[in-house]
Amino acid sequence: MEPSSASREISVEQALRLLEQFRALITESQEPPSQPSLAQELLPYEQAAHALLQVRRLLFALAQGDLSYEVREKGALAGALKSLQANLRHLTWQTQQVARGDFTQRVEFMGDFSEAFNTMVTQLDAMARELQIQRDELMRRNESLILEIAERQRAEAAERKQRELAEALQRAAMALNATLNYEEVLDIMLERVNEVVGYDSAMIMEVEGMSARVRRAKNYHRYGEEVEKKVLSACFDIPSTPNLFAMFTSLRPLVIPDVDRYPARRRSQIVSPARSWIGAPIYAHGDVLAFFSLDKLEAGYYQEEHARTLERFASQAALAMVNARLFREIQRLAITDTLTGLYNRRYFLERAYQEFARSCRYRHPLTIVILDLDHFKSINDTYGHPIGDLVLQTAARLVNQTVRRSDLAARFGGEEMILLLPETPPQAGVVLAERLRERIATTPIAANEHILSITASFGVCGAETADCHMEPRRAVETLIELADRALYQAKQAGRNRVCSIQFSFTAPPLA
Ligand code: GH3
Ligand code: MG
Ligand code: MG
Repeated sequence: MEPSSASREISVEQALRLLEQFRALITESQEPPSQPSLAQELLPYEQAAHALLQVRRLLFALAQGDLSYEVREKGALAGALKSLQANLRHLTWQTQQVARGDFTQRVEFMGDFSEAFNTMVTQLDAMARELQIQRDELMRRNESLILEIAERQRAEAAERKQRELAEALQRAAMALNATLNYEEVLDIMLERVNEVVGYDSAMIMEVEGMSARVRRAKNYHRYGEEVEKKVLSACFDIPSTPNLFAMFTSLRPLVIPDVDRYPARRRSQIVSPARSWIGAPIYAHGDVLAFFSLDKLEAGYYQEEHARTLERFASQAALAMVNARLFREIQRLAITDTLTGLYNRRYFLERAYQEFARSCRYRHPLTIVILDLDHFKSINDTYGHPIGDLVLQTAARLVNQTVRRSDLAARFGGEEMILLLPETPPQAGVVLAERLRERIATTPIAANEHILSITASFGVCGAETADCHMEPRRAVETLIELADRALYQAKQAGRNRVCSIQFSFTAPPLA
């Protein structure tokens, strides 16, 4: 049934107004002002205009990129636009997904744009994969670079340590080579070893036969007076001291990480709180000259590298010890008479001058004794020179055994010997000479199948030095000359006797 003609009919004027309204909605850029409500019968057209207004607004919002505009309007046009809006919203979401790395997103509804978008996403995907590969490769290289750097740093640190060690060893070698004094060498060894292998306490033992005697010790006072005293006087029997014996036989250093767990510890003469121990033999040409013995309080301190370092230091020390010993031997030979082992004349005179000066300073008396074997020429003539030498050596031994350590005995020439007795007045010198004369005369000398007995004559001259204003060299020469004169008197008086000459510096007897 058709609607009534009254309700459908509108005036021309109204139709024109409506058309104008629709035109303005479609063509004007400004939204047309809302029109006063039309008559009831024009309501469908007004609704159509309203729908057009809504669609126009949605279109304008879309054109400006606003996808949030809500339209409740129904109908094909609004539906199409809403579908476009929904698609654009989905596209926005898809783009966001792609931005988050989801390259599976594909657009289907926009023809060429879809194709372009999908191609872009595919390329992005490929690029992302390529980037990932490159990133992985970069990470891998980075990791190996980090490892390489760490390794290089380790190597550099090790190299630096080695260099420092080499420098310390070189400094120690220079210090050791700076002296030929044996005692100083021992001091330097103990001092310098601390620079290359640290210690809390340490000692140097010198090998004498099969014993090791402590010659230098440092820091043992830390463990108490008793420990230090024991260390300083210690002498170890090498074969029954396992650590020393091991080093002695192997010529290798030895590390004891924890001495408390070392079985031989219980038998040790010295008990200190030190837990780590390292030792090294100091040897040359296969002969062990000495041992280093180093302690550290904490257990497990010494390692294999310490042993290698100590071994290197010990070989330098050995060289210094050998040189100093050689020098000491050369010095000894230079002042010793080779046949008798007594000091030689030159050294005796040198020392006598010094001793005299010292005696003067302290106003002590000093005595010179000269002895000469009696009829020695006939011993040579009767038994030959080698036996003469033996007799001379025996007499020298008797001299050495009779004098004090502070006395000086020398071979003065031929079968003549001289003694310097510091702090000894002439009378005491005569007593000593008498004792020696007696001893020589009563000591039989076995020479081949012969038993020989010999005698000697003695000349003694001593003086109080308090009033001496004489120059030491002159004074000693004077005393020797007078002792020689006394000796001559003893010979003259029948030999095998002691003669002395009184002497005072305040009243010289010589004409
Ligand atoms: P007197 O009792 O007067 O001292 O008589 P003497 O025979 O000991 O004196 P003289 O000075 O005539 O002889 C010393 C001898 O000592 C002469 C020399 O052959 C000998 N003589 C010197 N030095 C040595 C030596 O190193 N070895 C040996 N075997 N004899 C020596
Ligand atoms: Mg003689
Ligand atoms: Mg003589």
